[in-house]
Amino acid sequence: MDEVIAFSKRRGFVYPGSEIYGGMAGIYDFGPYGVELLNNIKRSWWETNVHSREDYVGIDSSIFRDPRVWDASGHTKGFSDPLVECKKCNARLRVDKELAKVGVTADEKMSEADLNALWDEHKAKIACPSCGAHDYTPVRAFNLLVKSNLGDFTSRGDNPVYLPGEACQGIYLNFKNVVDTTRMKVPFGIAQIGKAFRNEISPRNFLFRTREFEQADTQFFVKPHENKEAYDRIKAERYAWYKSLGISDENLRWKQHDNLVFYASDAWDIEYNFPTYGFDEVEGVHDRTDYDLTQHMNHSGTDLRYTDPQTGEKYIPWILETSMGVGRVFLAVLSEAYTKDELDGEERVVLRLAPELAPVKAAVFPLLRNKPELVAKAREVFTMLKTHARVEWDDNGNIGKRYRRQDEIGTPYCITIDFDTLGEGGDEVKDTVTVRDRDTGEQKRVKIAELTAMLA
Ligand code: ATP
Repeated sequence: MDEVIAFSKRRGFVYPGSEIYGGMAGIYDFGPYGVELLNNIKRSWWETNVHSREDYVGIDSSIFRDPRVWDASGHTKGFSDPLVECKKCNARLRVDKELAKVGVTADEKMSEADLNALWDEHKAKIACPSCGAHDYTPVRAFNLLVKSNLGDFTSRGDNPVYLPGEACQGIYLNFKNVVDTTRMKVPFGIAQIGKAFRNEISPRNFLFRTREFEQADTQFFVKPHENKEAYDRIKAERYAWYKSLGISDENLRWKQHDNLVFYASDAWDIEYNFPTYGFDEVEGVHDRTDYDLTQHMNHSGTDLRYTDPQTGEKYIPWILETSMGVGRVFLAVLSEAYTKDELDGEERVVLRLAPELAPVKAAVFPLLRNKPELVAKAREVFTMLKTHARVEWDDNGNIGKRYRRQDEIGTPYCITIDFDTLGEGGDEVKDTVTVRDRDTGEQKRVKIAELTAMLA
């Protein structure tokens, strides 16, 4: 993973946030290639979950939400992690994670008193990771919601306007709007990609646990108790999507939750086998019954029941949720694709990305940069292709070096314009170029007129 992280910085995929000021824990920026990969992942997700379906629509809700939303969702009371501070160096530790390191499981539902008792029993085995001391403050529940100071909403309760702790609440808030203004009928789904913010106690593991991140969520609304078939369909589709990104079965697995929250009927996570970190969650697929809409109906006083257009029956739909961390999937895709191999007797780094995800689809090279006829012809090809796909121009260094640079960022094709293209090798090769394949290094001649179709 250290290698993947260093690579991400070196080739402009991911930079530490506010780096010139020394960086911020758990905050990252995506660079020029990173943003292309990120957008391609989101586009693939959106096409699969919205465009290719008749029973799903998308929305984009605002970041700022009425403070009462987080009371209704349970976040103001229950969205916390157990925290202790080292009395010597003030390092903050997440109690459940530290206990796990010495083989002790802290149940998510434990009270503060029980957690303190458990911590007191085992803390002698746990040295502060920063300074090695063994002296800690008592365990307290640390709420993960991030406050803002937008406006004055205190008249609506005691809470400030929080940044979203999870993006999906925006979908529940618009359920009624979508029913009232579109022709969607239960069963149907709403999809959204949105930002979430969490005051993680110890952000770590690069993009895996950050304080600002994106979530891609779907909420599928069904008639009460008609959840099983849809849940199985959704699980199968979500797994298939990861396969379509080029992730192998051996690095992907399902994990069922042992301890369900009280309202949930079933919950599974999709886990990816990250280098160094091992298997961990990238997406949750949850069968949430009518909890979310009931909570918002009670807290807002707005009737969120759905009326069956055929029978007139009124009910609160049950919800099947998928919630994916886009940054975690980005890291999974990058880890999966990052490969070192040998080609033509030379060691290289190659990103074996699915072409759909590659930041650059093709690179265009004039064989020599000091031959104006070659450069002019290559520019023609480049200009033609750039309206169809993200392509890159490179005339710097020998062709082998240019290939290596593109292999590293996962460009599927390199296109070289040479003297044969200009017609010097005879009529049969005139207006053809060399197309070189990233994975095999194989080269073939392709007519310029056929390049666009080949890239498509
Ligand atoms: P974890 O147990 O790892 O903290 P979670 O169960 O709290 O995650 P959910 O609330 O179910 O996560 O959020 C759905 C998805 O959002 C997760 O599967 C994960 O991919 C992503 N996610 C959650 N927290 C973070 C974070 N701090 N940084 C990056 N992605 C996150």
